[in-house]
Amino acid sequence: MFTAINRKAKRWVIRQIKRRPVVLISDTTLRDGAQMPGIHLHEGGKLEIAAALADAGVHSIDLGFPASGPAEVKVIQRIAATVKGPILSALARTKRSDIDCAAEALAEGAVYKKAVTLFIGTSPMHRKHKHEMTKAQVIATAVDSVAYATESFEVISFGAEDASRTEPEFLHEIYEKVIEAGATSIGFTDTVGILTPRKASDAVTRIAQSVPSIDSALLGVHFHNDLGLATANSLAAVAAGANIVQGTVNGIGERAGNVAIEEVVLALTLHRDEFGRSVHVRPQALSSLSEMVARHTGIAPAADKPAVGANIFRTEAGIHQDGLLKHPETYLPYQPELVGAGPIELVLGPSSGKSAVRHHLENNGIKATDDLVGRLVARLKSGIANPDDEELTEVMGVLKDHLTLSVGEEIAAAASQSTVSD
Ligand code: MN
Repeated sequence: MFTAINRKAKRWVIRQIKRRPVVLISDTTLRDGAQMPGIHLHEGGKLEIAAALADAGVHSIDLGFPASGPAEVKVIQRIAATVKGPILSALARTKRSDIDCAAEALAEGAVYKKAVTLFIGTSPMHRKHKHEMTKAQVIATAVDSVAYATESFEVISFGAEDASRTEPEFLHEIYEKVIEAGATSIGFTDTVGILTPRKASDAVTRIAQSVPSIDSALLGVHFHNDLGLATANSLAAVAAGANIVQGTVNGIGERAGNVAIEEVVLALTLHRDEFGRSVHVRPQALSSLSEMVARHTGIAPAADKPAVGANIFRTEAGIHQDGLLKHPETYLPYQPELVGAGPIELVLGPSSGKSAVRHHLENNGIKATDDLVGRLVARLKSGIANPDDEELTEVMGVLKDHLTLSVGEEIAAAASQSTVSD
């Protein structure tokens, strides 16, 4: 009796959440991200990242896979004891022993703030070669595990692994059955990153239309970036009605990585008019999150990585520098403050022009005469050091923090040469 009332109340709450104009962000940096080859995240790093994610406003955090061993269970217990706010989730295969490990890891978590995420491969490839199961066996296993999980968890997520390569009818059937068994969210995954935006959109639309109980469960997407389309695919899924986007900070993860949450958050923030839904993750937190994850994993994002790369607010080209000095929006889609970065940096190198050179000279209290500016621009372009021009050498020493590495190295070489000849 109580269970029935509880389930009805939960379904009512989920329907309310689905009506809100919000896209929920789920983070799996500590699980899928941490699976990236060469990464070993230590407990302290995981704790710090989980706390920062909570502070940034993510809806849920995938903390890890407790069945992998007691060390993982211990880390999850530590995080659950200190990190409050988001739903904290542990991953489990559709096995009772895995669910028991997840329940142990999150034993101290608040009832509606802890979740288990169950997954089983549903595609023909996974059914035949990985599980050696028929469709009926996959459904029975999934339903049995969800039902078993309801004994320890109120929040239960079911992820169909390799969903993007699964027959739609079968996928819809398994989603319907697991929702009936008690799953509160279902996950549509692109495990091998093969989708395009149109296919992602079509799949989400079909799920919304063909799963009768979909109103009682949140629909999440988990996309990989093998074709460089994970962000576009996630946005297409959002436009088609997905409630949750799961990704990682800096897009780290298996192979080409997961969708980068900073890209999704930024796009949804800048294009709220298009999507009509907001995100609760503060974009201002993105730069520091990126820096923190890079520090703890030892993997820095590429310099030109959208939203968080080192070059996003640096420019060397003369025309762009001149434009930015006239107005900071001329050559930027958004200002650095939006993602907690900055300031804009005008780097001096072979592509730089007079405006940026004059700007840096004046900022350093050096009189920017036309002659000096001209000599400096010529010097930057030619890449040839002229040790006889002592004034120029001195000025470049003052501006060394703004010079590109190639020019800076050359000055150092010229300086050491002049020492030798002296
Ligand atoms: Mn994945």
